[in-house]
Amino acid sequence: MSISPQQPNSDMLVQQLLDNSVDCIKILTLDGRLHAMNQYGLCLMEIDDFCNVEGGEWVSFWPGVGHGYAIAALQLAQQGNVGRFQGECPTAKGTLKWWDVVVTAVPDIDGKPQWLLAVSRDISELKRAEQAREQALQTAETAIKERDAFMAIAAHELKNPLTALLGQTQLLRRRLVKADQQLDRHVQTLDIILAQANRINSLVGQLFDISRFDQEALELNFSSIDLNHLVQHVVEEFRLDQQKHALLLSIAPEPSLILGDKLRLEQVLFNLIGNAIKYSPNGGQIQLTIENQPTTVNLVITDQGIGIPASALDSIFDRFYRAKNVETATHGGGLGLFVVSEIIKRHNGTIQVESTEGQGSMFKVMLPRQ
Ligand code: ADP
Repeated sequence: MSISPQQPNSDMLVQQLLDNSVDCIKILTLDGRLHAMNQYGLCLMEIDDFCNVEGGEWVSFWPGVGHGYAIAALQLAQQGNVGRFQGECPTAKGTLKWWDVVVTAVPDIDGKPQWLLAVSRDISELKRAEQAREQALQTAETAIKERDAFMAIAAHELKNPLTALLGQTQLLRRRLVKADQQLDRHVQTLDIILAQANRINSLVGQLFDISRFDQEALELNFSSIDLNHLVQHVVEEFRLDQQKHALLLSIAPEPSLILGDKLRLEQVLFNLIGNAIKYSPNGGQIQLTIENQPTTVNLVITDQGIGIPASALDSIFDRFYRAKNVETATHGGGLGLFVVSEIIKRHNGTIQVESTEGQGSMFKVMLPRQ
């Protein structure tokens, strides 16, 4: 649309057009100072009185990276070109907004730049939607990566015990077919089958637990428990098939009463002691100490195993995480400590770890005293 300057009401019409535009329209002097601004632009920029900003350098309103973009756009317009950018700039009252900006020159009748025109469109809503989309995409990508990592671990962890189970079962079958009388060998084979079946069972159990945590569906049956007894009982179970590791237990002189779910706390103990054994391939001592503190019962489990690299200490309670120094040496899905920490959290307790790679690890569980 063009307006002939001869029309008597053209100035008014231009004014109306500018004021009713949904953009922030500014007329700048050739050196980039604010000369005029439309009414709607004042609202968008939350400027109560144009006098407060009149004559101010337009680029100075742009902070951060936007400042550089504004300078470049201004220079382009001063040379008769179109300067365009998107940037973040706060209003006079400090509301941060995203703008799509076009800066052009307004020529005089000889075609020489006389004024500059800066038109900024508020695209904050658009940017927010874009950022939310990006965030959602990132979350989805992370979830897919986690799922893929999990699938790889689960497949690997399930495949090994299954292969062993199948092999040993076939072997047992062949021996039985031959009516072999060496019963010891059958018992050994059955032990292997049992151990592998237990590995699958524990992995599947951990997977169930994780889905329960995710759905907030883990049910705990709280009762009064003496942690001394519980730890003694679990240690006895481990001692039954431990020759390589010495499990030393030092319990508190008085009952260590806590309110907890017996089965879940047993699971915590099996996990932590199991790890101490698994990650001490050369054997050694595993020391368990229970102490009654004024408000907590503390259980400390110390091993002399491979330890945890300092860089891994912050991550070992994350699901699927395994430190670099164990990757090939031992089986595991990186789920045990995640499950342990979730169970302890649900008992209002905490778990801490200290470790030196090559020397051993210390896990400390603190549970509220009853
Ligand atoms: P998994 O043992 O199945 O890999 P966990 O969640 O139980 O999974 O442990 C996570 C990681 O923490 C292990 O892979 C290992 O790197 C490290 N870790 C846990 N306990 C010990 C320990 N006692 N000694 C050394 N490293 C350990």
